[in-house]
Amino acid sequence: MRLADVVTELERWFPPNLAEPWDSVGLTFGDPDAAVESVLLAVDPTAGIAAEAIERRVDLIVTHHPLWLSGVTSLRGAKGRFAQDLIRAGIAHFNAHTNADRANPGVNDALAQALGLQAPVPLESRTSTSLRLTAYVPTADREQLIDALAAAGAGTIGDYDRCAYTTAGAGTFRPLAGADPHIGEIGRTEQVDEDRLEMVLPVAARPAVTAALLSAHPYEEPAYDFTEILRADPGLGLGRVGGVPRQTLSQFADVVAGALPATAAGVRFAGDPDSLVETVAVVGGSGASELQAASRVADVLVTADLKHHTVDEHLADGGCAVIDVAHWASEWPWCAQTANRLETLGLGTHVSQQVTDPWSGHRGGTG
Ligand SMILES: [Zn+2]
Repeated sequence: MRLADVVTELERWFPPNLAEPWDSVGLTFGDPDAAVESVLLAVDPTAGIAAEAIERRVDLIVTHHPLWLSGVTSLRGAKGRFAQDLIRAGIAHFNAHTNADRANPGVNDALAQALGLQAPVPLESRTSTSLRLTAYVPTADREQLIDALAAAGAGTIGDYDRCAYTTAGAGTFRPLAGADPHIGEIGRTEQVDEDRLEMVLPVAARPAVTAALLSAHPYEEPAYDFTEILRADPGLGLGRVGGVPRQTLSQFADVVAGALPATAAGVRFAGDPDSLVETVAVVGGSGASELQAASRVADVLVTADLKHHTVDEHLADGGCAVIDVAHWASEWPWCAQTANRLETLGLGTHVSQQVTDPWSGHRGGTG
């Protein structure tokens, strides 16, 4: 398979438009025409992962975390070395970060599955901004106008196209001197059977849809407007929430520790160890921002990178229990999930077993 074709497939699974605006996702480097036979999957683009890729002679590394989050003016330092070593070896790098967090399947589904969550749904639904066109058209010209607007990109909802809503009504107008009316005569008030037509469209399609409307509408001065609307994207969004057999927080922490790869810090939890848990929210990576959302629907949130004050204040305000795992461990199940999908394309895959969690030791503790 050409690298460009692998990237097309990965971007179908992890659409770049699901990523946060500050994020960096996609192909970092690599020749789009190069052949790809095998892929190494890892959470982090580190020197150890680059060395493993070279040793295994793979053609592509897919990581969750980006190599660079901001603009680059030199190839110095560890990241520059990562890029130089791999480019010299002819190995490409691709990453899917917050787009893989939201996608389904993605990072959070892989974590939910690893922990045995039943019927997981997104913790927070994603909304996207689009436009709604409202136009008024003589009933006789309605279908032809819908065809033209659909061809220009309006009226697509999920797996359906040419979606439109119409309401019958009456339009009235009086052509003034200088007009060239499609219906009626200068100076006389007209009343015409018209339909109010509504169609949704992506923000980017507005110029094409406007041009199609002006060319396909029979009127010299068609009445129309665009309204910005928010739509929920079902199934996509940060985090997942699902059920587990009723058990104590302490018992569920054991489940989490057994399901995720071992790390230096292991698994710690906050909340009453004997409290009962049956609805679990998960957010792979740093999920402190989702504590409140999790408290509304779940008995416990499993995430990473939580701080003292954040957890202390969350519990004091009656929030749900919290299980804090290593950031790397929470995202690692995604590697195997994505590897399985790449294998369906006929590619060979390796999931790196290197622990790229930066913490290397842990002493003491009372839990
Ligand atoms: Zn992460």
